[in-house]
Amino acid sequence: MNNFIDDFRNSEIARKMGSMLSSYRGRPVTIMEVCGTHTMAIFRYGIRALLPDGIRLISGPGCPVCVTPSYYVHAAVTLSQRDDVIITTFGDMMRIPATAGDGSRGESLLSRKAQGNDIRIVYSPLDSLKIAAENPGKKVVFLSVGFETTVPVIALSVLKANEAGLDNFSVLSANKTVPEALKVLSVDSEIGVDGYLYPGHVSAIIGTGFYDEIAERYGIPGIVAGFEPLDVMHAIISLASNINNKKIVVENQYCRVVTREGNPVALEKMNEVFEARDAVWRGIGCIPGSGLQVRDKYSKHDAWKVFDLRQEAGNEPKGCLCGEVLKGKRTPKDCGLFGKACTPENPVGSCMVSSEGTCAAYYKYGGI
Ligand code: SF4
Repeated sequence: MNNFIDDFRNSEIARKMGSMLSSYRGRPVTIMEVCGTHTMAIFRYGIRALLPDGIRLISGPGCPVCVTPSYYVHAAVTLSQRDDVIITTFGDMMRIPATAGDGSRGESLLSRKAQGNDIRIVYSPLDSLKIAAENPGKKVVFLSVGFETTVPVIALSVLKANEAGLDNFSVLSANKTVPEALKVLSVDSEIGVDGYLYPGHVSAIIGTGFYDEIAERYGIPGIVAGFEPLDVMHAIISLASNINNKKIVVENQYCRVVTREGNPVALEKMNEVFEARDAVWRGIGCIPGSGLQVRDKYSKHDAWKVFDLRQEAGNEPKGCLCGEVLKGKRTPKDCGLFGKACTPENPVGSCMVSSEGTCAAYYKYGGI
């Protein structure tokens, strides 16, 4: 019987793939790993250390916490100070500081929690429904941050709240979708991506068909990959070979999980609750059609509307290069604050906060 962990960490095969990578003699190629989970996997398994000079990996904007704009953090911190509100959130949102008007570090949810505001870490948005049921006199707001991987379960929480009459539950959506962002990155000649390493978990929801447009319209091949070391090494070898052979295709290395159609049930829930809108990506700017907002029919569960909050671009932290890092144009080590004023314990920018953030990965693994 297959063991999907051990099989994809087989050391003998890994050694062979490692020597295939090291002996690469093709033309220089730049591959963007779109997603933060790949960034961490590549560092954790030492894959960067195996790469020859001819294969350059750059990190993309696929860490949802990293691309959440500062105005969202400001809105969450402001909401958390209301006596009638309980904030529920995934843990990695806790440490992002809001940015003050002069670009200095502002408050975070962690600092507000230390000051007594009711902010609770949950493992699923569905946990928030129980909190809403137990606290009918309070408004429970889930900080809804994430890509297609997490959106279906957030949509499910809205549907369940609606069915159960939990009108005191709402979500503050900063949810985003990956394909529109890829179109923006694909036309940026400064980045010069030759191929994409596509995220396995997002692709499990949306399928691989979405990426055909990137290959056909922009001439950039890609491969969907899993997160074990053999997955990533195999994907890099295949993609580099396709780039060299001018084979502009989208391959699916992660076929044990991902299909061309994706997950129709998850997509149905997502589309029932959310609709596309323009969205601001931290450091990148507004990308048309790349965000998700709660549809009008569920507006009583839309915290932006319930609390009449404004969504306006705010300041970026002074000196922070997150925007350039998220576009793959700079590495964290180019930032003057890296490892000095900005560390995982005391982050300045969002890329140092999340465990999937590029700056956090560089800090943890020393950039190799
Ligand atoms: S090291 Fe910190 S300040 Fe610099 S780019 Fe990364 S998150 Fe921003």
